Amino acid sequence: TENRSSLDNKKSKSNSKGANNIDNFLNWCEHNNFSLISKVRVGTDGSCAQYGMMATEDIAMGECLFKIPRQHLLTPHTSSLDQTLKTELLCLESGSGWVPLLVSLMYEYTKPTSKWRPYFDLVPNFAELDLPMLWDESDRERLLQGTGVKQAVETDVTSLTKEFEELVLPFLRKHRDHFDDRCKDIEFYKQMVAFVMAYSFTEPSGQDYRLSQGDEPTVPTYPMMVPMADILNHISKNNAHLKFEKDALEMIAMKAIKKGDEVYNTYGELTNWHLLHMYGFSEPYPENIFDTVSHTLEIITKQTQTSLLVVEGILTEEEFYETLKVLAMDRAKFEEHREKEGWSDAEDEQEEDSMNFDEIPKLPNTWKELLKKSAECCLQKYNTSLEDDRKRLRDDQTSISAREKYSLYTAYGQKMLLQQLIECCS
Ligand code: SAM
Repeated sequence: TENRSSLDNKKSKSNSKGANNIDNFLNWCEHNNFSLISKVRVGTDGSCAQYGMMATEDIAMGECLFKIPRQHLLTPHTSSLDQTLKTELLCLESGSGWVPLLVSLMYEYTKPTSKWRPYFDLVPNFAELDLPMLWDESDRERLLQGTGVKQAVETDVTSLTKEFEELVLPFLRKHRDHFDDRCKDIEFYKQMVAFVMAYSFTEPSGQDYRLSQGDEPTVPTYPMMVPMADILNHISKNNAHLKFEKDALEMIAMKAIKKGDEVYNTYGELTNWHLLHMYGFSEPYPENIFDTVSHTLEIITKQTQTSLLVVEGILTEEEFYETLKVLAMDRAKFEEHREKEGWSDAEDEQEEDSMNFDEIPKLPNTWKELLKKSAECCLQKYNTSLEDDRKRLRDDQTSISAREKYSLYTAYGQKMLLQQLIECCS
């Protein structure tokens, strides 16, 4: 049949273990009606990272590349845990909201007869999945200084350890007959967290197709594993995206994809530091159109030289103006301003306009001076200078490890944004 021959086309001729795993996985997908079109190939050749999907023929915008019927998503609801366990598991509240999926995933991953076996035999390759959460502390210290990733990872490790000890272990002990011994090992749990972090998808908020029209949303939305969609790699200028439909999730071409090109999904509008934190990679400057730098305004007031005013968080354009206006005041002016106008209440602000670089040169000189100084101050927080990074990027990249490369991309992108700000203020 046509399906059979297109599948044969996609299969690698090699008899290696990897090729067998791809074939088994593709057979499993075919058996479960994933409707993979014949214009793509799944494999390592041409992929930017381990496995990926490549176009073997031109694909038109809007074409559906494959779909995943909802019963083949791996969620706490679809897992083969028995019903009583499932009900109990779904009651496990946690800060992250990930515990029910993590326990279901551990259960299926360690079960030789799991229905998702061909999927687990293909991904992930834990030797390649190099999330900063799995690095040793000295590398995090050395490579991530200034980027914000180190703090995010420390928070994750603290909360996942707490969740494991307070929720997961008691559940596993209570149901010890159902779980493989590996599940009690925190290192194995960490690997599963990394798997969920880098491979799971979440139903877009406000959209739950499990409910009929008019139903009250009674089922909370969990992250879920989506076989085949998670084979696709990410770039910010993606050419495909996942649509969440009632009965299936569909991967749709967002633009025409040329024969030979890789098919890229989007994991979201993510900055480089977010990509590095959650997925262990980042994009080289200036490829990531969603990159940002967290700019902390740290100004030592002129009068006392001692008090430190720190402004953190994402400011709306109006908050940004207000902040700069206040920071540029001397004490008398500040007191007068406080008496007369008070602070504007950020929660009342409805507008979330962002300001672009073009607006900066039009700001008053005192404000620009403040912005410039604080950007210079932010640049000092990294272990290396912009010039050091530039030189490393010019050097042969083959001699550096993947984690060094992606940390460099992240820090360099942030420094370029700070440098751009300094230039706009000068
Ligand atoms: N390539 C993965 C595989 O073979 O298992 C499938 C994609 S998986 C959802 C996400 C992981 O793929 C990331 O954690 C990262 O290791 C890798 N990845 C995705 N996009 C990438 C990119 N543009 N550059 C480098 N690595 C990427």
